[in-house]
This record gives sequence, C-alpha cells and structure tokens, in this order.
Amino acid sequence: MRPSLLDPLFASAASLPGVGPKTGRLLDRLLRGPGGGEARVLDLLFHAPTALIDRRLRPKIAEAPLDSYVVVEASVVSHTPSRGRGPFRVLVEDETGDVLLVFFLANAEWVEKSLPVGARRWICGRLELWEGHRQMVHPDRILDEAGLAKLEPVEPVYPLTEGLRQRSIAKAVAGALARLPALPEWGAPPGLPAFSDALRALHRPQEPKDLLADAPARMRLAYDELFAGQLALALMRARAKERPGRASVGDGRLAAKILAALPFELTGAQKAAIAEIRADLASETRMLRLLQGDVGSGKTLVALIAMAACVEAGRQAALMAPTELLARQHFASLARFSAPAGLRVALLTGREKGSARRAFLEELAAGEIDVAVGTHALFQEGVEFADLALAVVDEQHRFGVRQRLSLGEKGERADLLAMTATPIPRTLALTYFGDMDISALREKPPGRQKIETRALPLERIDELIGRLGAALRSGAQAYWVCPLVEESAESDLSAAGARAAELRQIFGEEAVGLVHGRMRGKDKDEAMAAFSGGATKILVATTVIEVGVDVPAASIMVIEHAERFGLAQLHQLRGRVGRGAAQSFCMLLYKGPLGEAGKARIAILRESDDGFAIAEEDLRLRGEGEVMGARQSGLPGFRLADPAAHGDLLAFARGEAQAAVASDPGLSGARGRALRLLLHLFERAEAIRLLAAG
Ligand code: ADP
Ligand code: MG
Repeated sequence: MRPSLLDPLFASAASLPGVGPKTGRLLDRLLRGPGGGEARVLDLLFHAPTALIDRRLRPKIAEAPLDSYVVVEASVVSHTPSRGRGPFRVLVEDETGDVLLVFFLANAEWVEKSLPVGARRWICGRLELWEGHRQMVHPDRILDEAGLAKLEPVEPVYPLTEGLRQRSIAKAVAGALARLPALPEWGAPPGLPAFSDALRALHRPQEPKDLLADAPARMRLAYDELFAGQLALALMRARAKERPGRASVGDGRLAAKILAALPFELTGAQKAAIAEIRADLASETRMLRLLQGDVGSGKTLVALIAMAACVEAGRQAALMAPTELLARQHFASLARFSAPAGLRVALLTGREKGSARRAFLEELAAGEIDVAVGTHALFQEGVEFADLALAVVDEQHRFGVRQRLSLGEKGERADLLAMTATPIPRTLALTYFGDMDISALREKPPGRQKIETRALPLERIDELIGRLGAALRSGAQAYWVCPLVEESAESDLSAAGARAAELRQIFGEEAVGLVHGRMRGKDKDEAMAAFSGGATKILVATTVIEVGVDVPAASIMVIEHAERFGLAQLHQLRGRVGRGAAQSFCMLLYKGPLGEAGKARIAILRESDDGFAIAEEDLRLRGEGEVMGARQSGLPGFRLADPAAHGDLLAFARGEAQAAVASDPGLSGARGRALRLLLHLFERAEAIRLLAAG
C-alpha cells in the first residue's frame, strides 16, 4: 500500500553502508526504544542533532578562549610517559605559548605514534587552566595535514545511547540522507525550504541558531509533521461526517424525570453542553464531540442526559470507561441517577463471563438494555446493539486515533461523545482532537470548597503521619498515592506495598487498604469497597485511582514524591478529595531540594484550582509529550514538532489540511498523491485506509 518510492526510507537502518549488526542494535534501542523493533532509515533522518561542534575557531594558543571548543596548530615538544596511575603528558607549543595534552590510562604506543616529538599537528578539544597552566584533557581529534583536509568544520552532536558513538551515528545519517528520494512538494508556508532540503539542513547545522525551533529547516519539518497529523484528522472527520448519521430526537420526558429527582440544579456550563449535544444528536450528521471538564465539574450527568435523549428516541446508548474500576463506578452512579426515569442500565466488563455475559448480550441485542456501561469489552467482536445511537467514551485521551477509528467502525452511524477530565490546552486539543467539536465545562457546581494544598519535604513525613492520625480519629479518610518508580511495575508495586505495610504498623492492620494496577479486578473492587464503605481509613494506591474514583468521605490526599508527577496529574489526583462537606487537604510530599521548576509547579497548584489554567502551565513547563502522557497512552507524539513552540504552524496546517480535503476528498489528484506520501512519511497512513474503504 505504501508507494514504493518510499521503500528506501522504511528499510532497516542496519542495511545502511557502514552500519554493522552491533551499531544496528544500538540504533534500534536509541530510535525505537526497548522492544520497539528495528530502527529504519526514516528514524535516523528524523533524529535531530541537539548541539554542534564548531571547528572553525583556530586561534593561537595564547589567544584561545578557555572552555570552548578550539582547534590549535602546534608542534610536539616532549613526552612525559605516565608513572604509576598518573597520566601520559605531551607538551605542545606554537609561537605564542604552550599546552599540556593529558591522557589518562593512555596507550603509550598510540600517543607516541599520533604525536611524535617535532611533528606539527592540529589538535581539537577544550583548553582549561590547571594549576596556572593551559592543558587539554583527551583531545577530541589529533590530525596531521591530510587529516585536517578531511575535517568537517562543523559537526552535529546527536543524542546517543550507551555504547553508540557520535561518529557511528553521523556516518549512518550520511548514508540515510543518500537514500532520500526526490519527493514532490505537498505545500508549506512560504519561505521555508523543501522537505528534503530541510532534512539535509537539519543534519548540517552551521550555527547554534540552526538548532532552535524557529530555524527554517526545523520549522519546515515541524510543519510537515503537524500537517500530516491535521490531514489525518481532517480525513477522519470528513469520513465520519459523510456517512450519514441518524437523528435521535428525544422529547425530554426521561431527562425531565432525572433532573426533577436531583438534589441540585445543573450549572450553566452543564446546561450549555447539554444543549450543544442535544442539537448534535437531533441532526442528521454524526456527532464527534469532546466534552472537557475538570474533575467534579459534572460530566457524568451531562452524559446521562444525552444518553436519556437517545432512549427517549427509542434507541440505545453506551458508555465506555478506560478501567474496570471506573466502569463499575459509572455503572453505579448512572443506575442511581437514572432510576427515577426507569432507564435499564447494564454493565459489561472483562469480568462478566459465562451466563452473565450471555444474558447481557441477549438483552443488548434485543433492545432490552437502554444504557450499556463497560470497558473496551463493550466494543469487541460479538457485542451487538439493537440500535446504538450514542457512544460515550470517558477519559478520551487514553484512546488514540487508532482506537477512535475502530470505535467509529463499530458504532456504524452512532454519535460519539468523548469526555476528558484532563483539560487539554487549546493547541493540543487541535493537535489530538482536531477532528472533533469541543464543549467545555469551565464552571464547577456551587458550594465546592477550595482544597487546601500544602507541600512538605519527605523528611517531615513523621509530622504528617502525626497529623493524619489526628484527622483519622475525628472521622476523616485519606488517600495515599505512591508514584510509579522508574516505570517498572515491580518497584511500583513495592513502593506502594512498603508504604502500606508501614502505615499498617502505625494505624493498625484493618485501617489501611491497598490498590495497585496489578491487582486482580475483584481484589481491587474489594479494596475500593472497603474504603468507600469506611472500613479502611487510609487507601494506599498507585495512580490507578487517578481518574473518576468517587468517595465523598475522603478529605485528605497525600501524594508521595509529588515531584515525579506532572501538574495536570497532581491536579487530577487532588480532585479525588473535596467531594464532601468537610474541608479537604492535599499534602504534596516531595523529595528535596526542589529546583526552580519544581517550586513553580507547587506554587501554581497551591494558587489555582482551574484545571484549564493548570494544563496551560503544564504545557509551558513540560512540553507536549509529557502533558499528554504520550508514552503511557501510545499516542503518536511528535518527533520534530513542538506544539508549544510551533502553535502558529499548527494553525496554518489545520487550515491547509481542511482545504486540501475539501478540494480533493479522495486525495487522488497530483497534490493528493503528494499528500499521501506525507501521511506515510509521518506514519499517519491509517487515515488513508479510510479512503480505500470509502
Ligand atoms: P466529573 O465526571 O466531571 O468528574 P461528576 O459527574 O462525577 O464529575 O460529578 C461530581 C459530583 O458532583 C457528583 O457527585 C455529582 O453528583 C455532583 N454534581 C454534578 N453536577 C452537579 C451540580 N450541578 N450541582 C451539584 N453537584 C453536582
Ligand atoms: Mg467522571
């Protein structure tokens, strides 16, 4: 399916001249990560240098600046071979001064051969002062006349992995550039170089400014990457919208019953979002909408009213959650809220098996279930809805474009409402959800107290435990969150487990529960139930409690190693408390000393409880990959673009992508064929599948 023109770029990097099996394996690790498969020529081309070595500076010794990279021309005066563990020293000079070259653990034979006494050499490296004398430890290069003639005056410096040398990767990149085919132009903002020229320039920086995000070559490549992403989204959107949806026009009777039974009024933001969604549902085109709102902003209720509208129209709705725990909670609260309206709500997760599962499937197919709640099990083979009108997906950012596509295929003509409690900065929302319309709940239900947020160094943990004891005695409950350690599930588990064991010693065996990601579903539910029923007072947890969990009596959130969490994630965790009437607290236990950025993060959290504002800050402080948790969620992420730095390019790319799809929806013209190449190059080609299927 991929045009053969691009084959050389998708060949393995190990096939390049000069790349042996060993370098090949190192490149795999560097460019694809552990378990990521073989590095390809393309991966090398997109591996941007982060620094450069400038060998154009060739001062006389006396005038050479200290601590910057220089090339000095000098003659070799004398050798002082190493004695004991001392270094081998070589004195060299020019007419202005002299320098000691210092070699630790030197191969004496090699030093004598490269620097024979009396010879003239060009020596590259950093000069420093040591006990008042100029020296250069381990010169980078020692060259004779012939070597100098071959010297690259400027050399890029690449991020490496252990065992890989700059020279090996530079050679591999040169080989990769030689394989770059001539490509047609697919279009870019005026003034930027062509894609191939930009790649060549990327690997040939001449000045430090060439390494910056606004260098023309980097801008061009960033643009192409963003453009490919926007194009894929535009194709998805066009495809989704072109398949006719079905209008689900509710008469409001079920929604009215649900609302009448609520002990509170909807917020203005909830009412506005419900109106937008109902209008989408009632229209013939398919809805693709993202509902953003902070934890506790009341998204579940918005979703329920939307689902009720579909049931009023005689059809079905489904809500899918990313974890089983969340699916069960959603099921419980949806069943409770919708009881006055008599909605038939049922649950399906991976744990419903045998006759329970069979009964669910039968009722679903017979239209005897109005609202199906579950995990991704809901959208697997063999699950047939009688008439699905609306699919609600909670915590959308955990579902990548690929999953979204398969959902769309399953739901045929169903409307899609995605919900996320991690407010996404505008640029990122466009990047990842540019195919969707967006509703935001920026207003919170009234009467919410601000959560007191405090930071405390880990050394003062005893003080914290003392205060926690007092709070527990007066009836409070607390979460205690331990972070993922080094991304390893093993140590993650032991950190939370060890903390739970310690707290059990202090507060008693029964008072402390534990949930972590590797527990069996049933054990997890039991631990959660014990906590929400008040049997356990402290729940030690890994971040599995991050989303959705709702225990109103819990008023204290302790986050251990807060410095390891992102801002948005801390805000999410904090949102687990403050759901009841009591004043709630969030204690950030950090391992000091905190850097400037760490202090800034804590200050933001203490001052703000607006998830949208916090998300913007998070983006500013950490960059997009971290904010979106790309690594955990399998989102594509960007290699060359930085939506924080390239926001203008993103806006331009979005407009261009929409225009391109509008004028050539099948990407079949000459430009369309060039655009297909672009999609392949940035691995957004799954969008092309839609065209083929079209
Ligand atoms: P989210 O899913 O956005 O985090 P939820 O829908 O779980 O938020 O709502 C959080 C809590 O607030 C729930 O207990 C819910 O019953 C309550 N709630 C929702 N809307 C309102 C409202 N308008 N006024 C008061 N409480 C509300
Ligand atoms: Mg929720």
